[in-house]
Amino acid sequence: MSNSIELKDIHWLVDMVQNIDVGLVVLELDLKVKVWNGFMENHSGLIAAHVVDKDLTDLFEELPITWLKQKINSVCLLKNKAFTTWEQRPFVFKFKSYRQITSSAEFMYQNVTFLPLTDIAGKVTQVCMIIYDVTDVALNKQAFQEVNGKLEKLSQMDRLTNLYNHEHWRGCCAKEFKRQTRTKQPASLIMFDIDHFKKVNDNYGHPFGDEVIIGVADCLRHNMRETDLAGRYGGEEFTLLLVDTNLENAKLVAERLRIAIEEHPFVYQNKRVKVTVSLGIAEITSNIPDYKAWIKMADLGLYIAKDTGRNKIGISEH
Ligand code: GH3
Ligand code: MG
Ligand code: MG
Repeated sequence: MSNSIELKDIHWLVDMVQNIDVGLVVLELDLKVKVWNGFMENHSGLIAAHVVDKDLTDLFEELPITWLKQKINSVCLLKNKAFTTWEQRPFVFKFKSYRQITSSAEFMYQNVTFLPLTDIAGKVTQVCMIIYDVTDVALNKQAFQEVNGKLEKLSQMDRLTNLYNHEHWRGCCAKEFKRQTRTKQPASLIMFDIDHFKKVNDNYGHPFGDEVIIGVADCLRHNMRETDLAGRYGGEEFTLLLVDTNLENAKLVAERLRIAIEEHPFVYQNKRVKVTVSLGIAEITSNIPDYKAWIKMADLGLYIAKDTGRNKIGISEH
């Protein structure tokens, strides 16, 4: 009587194993397959009868064999469960993803658990792999990370000019200052400000003023290297950090920039509007204690340029 109840239980168990929505695979230690449930049949297209007693490595060419053997060895040795997540390894079995239409995944992302199975003597003789389809989780996390990355990028940029904003640029400047003082490479800062910009707004209106700011930012972009860091420091004030650039070369860049802006064809109602900038330059020297002092020094140069006639470069010697 009790025997028949146990058999019935086993029958249910087999049914559950067959129909559960996770992959169940039991492997001998030499990777021979002993159990291959319905989930594995559906996703691999291989029925259990075709797989059982075969070597797993003969059935799936793309299987990470060395890794799999190491996992199984460590599970046997430690007699303990092991896990792998989709973030460490997107999948073990390359199954197609059936998340149609809305899904961008070509394959099923998987988390896998390895369970040691022991015989009556307590020896690990087989290993059970439990394969979870985590495609939804993986796609959601990836989408979330992508949006987060975009938001982070957006939070670093100035909306009008698409240059770095004040806060982010200062952060970059602090980092670069540390790096340059460590490497002893030269580096220079240019700060510049549009001359009599209030008049531009007053004479032609704020929207045209915005156009001028955008145009100046474009001139800046065209006159810098990819490794340089450009920012909109304030309303009509800009910064450019030139890596690996000494004062002499920074002067050349600043002069090129000054001319480019002076010659830029700003036009208001068919009339050319001349725009100029004043620029301050400061090179890192050993007696500048921190990035804030570096910025101050460039700013001082800018004030010298303003004070001595505008549309020119000013340098504050330390
Ligand atoms: P200076 O040659 O001494 O720099 O004179 P300035 O007129 O350029 O300097 P001031 O600081 O007196 O004026 C700057 C003006 O820039 C005032 C402010 O309204 C304007 N401004 C700041 N941000 C923006 C902006 O985003 N768009 C526009 N259109 N104007 C701005
Ligand atoms: Mg100004
Ligand atoms: Mg200003």
